[in-house]
Amino acid sequence: MTTASTSRLLADLEGAGELIADPDVLASYRADQAAPGLLEAGMPAVVVRPRRTAEVQAAVRAAARHGVPIVPRGAGSGLAGGANAIDGCVVLSTELMTGIVGLDAASLTATVQPGLVNAHLGDAAKQHGLWYAPDPASYAFSTIGGNVATNAGGLCCVKHGVTRDALLGLELVLADGRAVRVGRRTRKGVAGYDLVSLVCGSEGTLAIVTEATVRLLPAPPPGATLAASFAGLGDAGRAIARIVRSTTPAMLELMDRTTIAAVEAMAPQGLDQDVEVLVFARSDLPGAAALEEVERMASWCESEGATLAVVTDEEAEGRMLTAARRLAYSALERQGATLLDDVCVPLGAIPALLEGIEAIAARHDVLIGTFGHAGDGNMHPTVVYDRGDPDAVARARAAFAAIVALALELGGTIAGEHGIGLLKHGLLGDELGAAHDLHRQIKHALDPAGLLNPGKGI
Ligand SMILES: Cc1cc2nc3c(=O)[nH]c(=O)nc-3n(C[C@H](O)[C@H](O)[C@H](O)COP(=O)(O)OP(=O)(O)OC[C@H]3O[C@@H](n4cnc5c(N)ncnc54)[C@H](O)[C@@H]3O)c2cc1C
Repeated sequence: MTTASTSRLLADLEGAGELIADPDVLASYRADQAAPGLLEAGMPAVVVRPRRTAEVQAAVRAAARHGVPIVPRGAGSGLAGGANAIDGCVVLSTELMTGIVGLDAASLTATVQPGLVNAHLGDAAKQHGLWYAPDPASYAFSTIGGNVATNAGGLCCVKHGVTRDALLGLELVLADGRAVRVGRRTRKGVAGYDLVSLVCGSEGTLAIVTEATVRLLPAPPPGATLAASFAGLGDAGRAIARIVRSTTPAMLELMDRTTIAAVEAMAPQGLDQDVEVLVFARSDLPGAAALEEVERMASWCESEGATLAVVTDEEAEGRMLTAARRLAYSALERQGATLLDDVCVPLGAIPALLEGIEAIAARHDVLIGTFGHAGDGNMHPTVVYDRGDPDAVARARAAFAAIVALALELGGTIAGEHGIGLLKHGLLGDELGAAHDLHRQIKHALDPAGLLNPGKGI
């Protein structure tokens, strides 16, 4: 983009909110948190920071008039390169759109602007004795708009659902600048196509989310927690399969030895570093039923070979384990460059996935820290490598590709919750097959000029 055309674009963005054109500041909007150094991250011409829907419309219309791509961005915590800038693009940051438009405690719903941080919605719900269930490990900083655009999952999703399950309605700004509402505020409804589901997980490629109406739940009771240690991923996988077949844990997570050591190195939590795999689970059934439920889970773990299974209804201990798990990725990042995977397999294939990951690590001679939402079959095997060693980079890439191929072989998906972004753009066809074209037709119908986050997702 020439200086003159950038000046004309900036002038035309009048009425689109705050503008940032300082190159030093622009640089901080180039990339999200995915695979630093491995994915393209262009230099935006400008960052716009609208406060309201009308300003988003003005930004989209101006970008369209200039034929410039527009990349929506929440907190930039994405792990697939979905918010990575394209040279000369407009980055539309929702960081000033943080309002709670309304919270209807009687109907158990909240309507919020897209830049509201997930945890802030949780805090607001708590004041009414309510709860917003989707809780990505990034809940303290990721935004509701980003969560919607990636259909983010979290630790509680194994029982209470992912972002899509909490979503009732959306306000959208379309590629031509129109603002429309889709979905509803009611618990049920079948009028029209399910456009909420279409946009949820579309990574900013179909429309910009300017408001979301979500369902809230009554706050859950404190519950009880299980921590079980295993001598190998295979044993842990079988125990997890047994638990999900027999009961409905409110959380069922896994961390392997590499991840435990990384967490302890970053922020000591008192985890036992001698175990190969730590599985922890929670029950949020009321009263004594919670402890009974985790005791049943403990007995299944023992019969599948757990070396130790401990249960507690101490809230502080449960919180410590949850906190340790939420630190997993940040802790692994401190060990070296990382290639984080996000595959998800059918529940029955969890043991095969975990055993396969061990075999891939050995075959490619790489270090893989595995953690994730074991109860959903959604794991985050993370290849840790030395960015300065070309051979190590090649082995890391090969291991990453092998994990994706294994997930597909097992009937799974290449992306459970982080999205396709740039990271898996070239792999999507392997999963979608003939349906890939249908996706492209839908994209073309909603964004004929292809200016909404091009090159990402589909
Ligand atoms: C330490 C850590 C832990 C994480 N844990 C989890 C986890 O447990 N579960 C999980 O699912 N993810 C997790 N993530 C990934 C990330 O936090 C989620 O993908 C999150 O939903 C992204 O939100 P964001 O506000 O940062 O969005 P961004 O990264 O800014 O954007 C993500 C995508 O959404 C699009 N987008 C953003 N806002 C809008 C909008 N208003 N309208 C349209 N499109 C938009 C962007 O273009 C991009 O494609 C984690 C990330 C980190 C760094």
